[in-house]
Amino acid sequence: MEKVEDIVIVGAGIAGLTTSLGLQKLGVRNLVLESSHSLRITGFAFIAWTNAWRALDAVGLGDSLRQQHKQFYS
Ligand SMILES: Cc1cc2nc3c(=O)[nH]c(=O)nc-3n(C[C@H](O)[C@H](O)[C@H](O)COP(=O)(O)OP(=O)(O)OC[C@H]3O[C@@H](n4cnc5c(N)ncnc54)[C@H](O)[C@@H]3O)c2cc1C
Repeated sequence: MEKVEDIVIVGAGIAGLTTSLGLQKLGVRNLVLESSHSLRITGFAFIAWTNAWRALDAVGLGDSLRQQHKQFYS
């Protein structure tokens, strides 16, 4: 069966997945394509600037992330 999406997002990183969630909340059908077969497990902290937090808040993820992490401000 043919599947039709309004938007195709290439890459299931934080940018692609957050965009996908935001579009889904707006009722826009979208498909995320990811080339990697596994998750990258490197990294030790989550560093994001104000605009990124605004985007995470807009899709309803900001508070959850703040509660799960110790916050440091410069
Ligand atoms: C080794 C390493 C450690 C890091 N540690 C941290 C950290 O501790 N804290 C932190 O805040 N940030 C860290 N970063 C930075 C962080 O990973 C990036 O800022 C963030 O992942 C960027 O998100 P993104 O969605 O823009 O891109 P990415 O996370 O790079 O996601 C892009 C995705 O697109 C996929 N892709 C690419 N081309 C194609 C294609 N043609 N078709 C399909 N899929 C494709 C890739 O496989 C990837 O999954 C680290 C980065 C690296 C490399």
